[in-house]
Amino acid sequence: MALIVQKFGGTSVGTVERIKQVAEKVKKFREAGDDLVVVLSAMSGETNRLIDLAKQISEQPVPRELDVIVSTGEQVTIALLAMALNDLGVPAVSYTGNQVRILTDSAHNKARILQIDDQKIREDLKAGRVVVVAGFQGVDENGSITTLGRGGSDTTGVALAAALKADECQIYTDVDGVYTTDPRVVSQAQRLDKITFEEMLEMASLGSKVLQIRAVEFAGKYNVPLRVLHSFQEGPGTLITIDEEESMEQPIISGIAFNRDEAKLTIRGVPDTPGVAFKILGPISAANIEVDMIVQNVSHDNTTDFTFTVHRNDYEKAQKVLQNTASEIGAREVIGDTKIAKVSIVGVGMRSHAGVASRMFEALALESINIQMISTSEIKVSVVIEEKYLELAVRALHTAFELDAPSRQGE
Ligand code: ASP
Ligand code: MG
Repeated sequence: MALIVQKFGGTSVGTVERIKQVAEKVKKFREAGDDLVVVLSAMSGETNRLIDLAKQISEQPVPRELDVIVSTGEQVTIALLAMALNDLGVPAVSYTGNQVRILTDSAHNKARILQIDDQKIREDLKAGRVVVVAGFQGVDENGSITTLGRGGSDTTGVALAAALKADECQIYTDVDGVYTTDPRVVSQAQRLDKITFEEMLEMASLGSKVLQIRAVEFAGKYNVPLRVLHSFQEGPGTLITIDEEESMEQPIISGIAFNRDEAKLTIRGVPDTPGVAFKILGPISAANIEVDMIVQNVSHDNTTDFTFTVHRNDYEKAQKVLQNTASEIGAREVIGDTKIAKVSIVGVGMRSHAGVASRMFEALALESINIQMISTSEIKVSVVIEEKYLELAVRALHTAFELDAPSRQGE
């Protein structure tokens, strides 16, 4: 008999029919003898609707009150599921974050969980009840309702699993697992049976949106086995764990992530003196703009070019800041480009294999795709390319690293 925490996302509880289906599913697990804690999101679209409502009253709602309103979405779904379960003859009880006592800090709208009181939940489980908990919310030490940031129900699920030392945290969603890349771009993309926390973090932060990043960090930190599964289709899903088994069949690259969220800025003809990187990036960070990739060229004639990427939403702001810096330090000009994309190969297998980067560059060269920037870490290589080549690049890399699903007959 296992203790499982199951989290169902907004689309999985998006209608009354679906909530009934979730109840049937939970009942099956219960009948198989598992102890279950179920964490729910609000019905899909509901959190957006509530935020919108708040914004009709106030352009910048007081964060504390915004939490009071957005936390209601989850309160609705947990009650509905608990009712549905009881109707099916499965004893169940629902709790808000406050009732469990999921204690958080007071950073409204993006609170962090500090502690979870597991006593009530354990008593209910012992009494044979399914415990249904509202995701995304907690309470601070003053008794104010807090929320954990968009997508925060994943974190609630993982945190509960960690606190209860659950055997597994299952994240049910509208895809059947984590894929080698986005199947909408590469039809040959395959579901991964397994991926490590580290790889998943890279994939998540690089734009694969299956799991909230913070939930993956949390699961890695507390070593909570995490599984992503489809809510209404049978299948093993993808298991996210700590172990990097050294097997011969283990692919070197687990996946290819990409995003179109960044823009590139270059400041040219910068006098190459000590402190120049700080002079350029100091004001950028002071303006609260996050920088991703950075490249500084080798200087000649005592001047250099300095390029970095920022989120596209910050592009114009960054450009203004950089213009100022340019005139202050006597740089020649500032140029920029928003039509770029970042493509990354990710895999722990890279640690033990040489030549992975050059294989990537070769695959891109064969498609005549120019690489504008490169950055590497222990388990990933990222390149910036022209946006219009993004899909071609992802497909070429997917093939080059042998990630394509074996094609079926007639395809
Ligand atoms: N309902 C919240 C949101 O839409 C939390 C979640 O679904 O995970 O962001
Ligand atoms: Mg979600």
